[in-house]
Amino acid sequence: MKDDRHLLGILFLVFIFDVWLYVSIVSFYFSPDLKTYFLSVGQGDATLLVAPGGKRFLIDGGPGKRTAGELGNILPPWARRIDVILVTHPQSDHFAGFIDVLKTYRVSYVFGNGDESDTQTFEVFKKTLREKDLNSIALRAGDVLNFSQIDMFVLSPKDDNEVKNAKDKNDPGVVMRVEFAGKSFLFTADVPKEILKRIPEKFLVADILKVPHHGSKTGLDDALMEKIRPSVSVIEVGKNNYGHPKKEILDILLAHTNQIFRTDKERPVIILNPSGVMNVTKF
Ligand SMILES: [Zn+2]
Repeated sequence: MKDDRHLLGILFLVFIFDVWLYVSIVSFYFSPDLKTYFLSVGQGDATLLVAPGGKRFLIDGGPGKRTAGELGNILPPWARRIDVILVTHPQSDHFAGFIDVLKTYRVSYVFGNGDESDTQTFEVFKKTLREKDLNSIALRAGDVLNFSQIDMFVLSPKDDNEVKNAKDKNDPGVVMRVEFAGKSFLFTADVPKEILKRIPEKFLVADILKVPHHGSKTGLDDALMEKIRPSVSVIEVGKNNYGHPKKEILDILLAHTNQIFRTDKERPVIILNPSGVMNVTKF
């Protein structure tokens, strides 16, 4: 009798586990929503887009091992694939974390801005790509990526010359507009405001802004914010010696945005459903 109850107990636990697994798989792969996670990775950028149907696009890899750890908290244990990664520009706070990500996750496509860096860490990153048989494809303004019902418009850099002749590695970072269900994101890498200002207003206006350059004062001003008019702004930032985010940028954001998040204090996730309803929460 005791053995029977023991067996029933085990069967019940197996049943509960199966139900949990089934609900997790269905809700992950069959969700019609776009979920955008702003990862807390220290001083650097890493944003994960999970498209309707479960495909994953990681914009920047953050500065180190925390990115793979954050992905492990978001993605279910069986999901060992990131479909696309994008290195907006080759500075370590944007690509170094990809080294561990590439060891843990199967990646199908790599995009970048075509620039290189002569650092040891970038050599390791390139070696890891070679080992995985991956080539980085350079994005240019005018390129459009269609990713599982999501439209991605590349707005900068303009061309190869602009990347080759850049005085500052931040200038030719990949700026991208992401559209889904009538809502839009503006991903700005670390580019200065002069680069953003040459983009036509119809591409700048966005519901959600990834604040340029961790809140450096080079990234924004009032005139630019009047064009972007975001309802949500996210500063991807960690402990740093630059004073990021700068007080003048926080003041500008306060004047022009309803909600401001910073990834050193919280982990925002923006969930967009196919009707365009936006739910801003934390993970
Ligand atoms: Zn940066």
